[in-house]
Amino acid sequence: MPSVGVLALQGGVAEHISILENLGCRVTGVRTPEDLASISAIFLPGGESTTLIALMNRWKLTPRLREMGMDGFPMFGTCAGAILLSREILEKEHSVEQQSLGVADVRAVRNYFGRQCCSFIQTLSVLGLSEPFKGIFIRAPLLEPLSDHVEVLSKVDDGAVLLKQDNLWLSSFHPELTADGRIHKLFLEDRGILKGGDDAHI
Ligand code: GLN
Repeated sequence: MPSVGVLALQGGVAEHISILENLGCRVTGVRTPEDLASISAIFLPGGESTTLIALMNRWKLTPRLREMGMDGFPMFGTCAGAILLSREILEKEHSVEQQSLGVADVRAVRNYFGRQCCSFIQTLSVLGLSEPFKGIFIRAPLLEPLSDHVEVLSKVDDGAVLLKQDNLWLSSFHPELTADGRIHKLFLEDRGILKGGDDAHI
């Protein structure tokens, strides 16, 4: 049974755990560096990236996670989690000084798609999935590739919303808020953690 972690400090933790358990994974809620020892991939959930990085620092997770991300460890950041993986962070209308793991060649523009009240659902076409996916966007960032190592797997208009840089996957939407595990499955298969097969319909 694949053993997968979900950063469990703040945000949409339970939703990721439920999708991953439905895919047949053993899931560890990661709170300390010791929790990282037994997992083969980690999901960084949505929530509030400033709060998440503060808690990661407090629990001494930041240096180890950064090292693992740079060493090829599979990491999938959704929304705030994607911001944490990005190496440049901007706020839509002004610049911000925000710390992150900084492992992916991506610029995240926080709150690009508007405030909470501007949350929206958009049907996405995703490279690797044969059927469209329901993208749920909540104060979502735009994710801009900063190098040719970054592959765009899905877009809204001209803006990238699902990206992959080898071991690092970033989505500006919330695949964990649907009952559809296909994007989690695609990532785990891509990294050789789950065996390939048909699209996952949970
Ligand atoms: N806007 C939030 C941030 O900047 C992310 C929102 C989310 O994860 N849904 O961290």
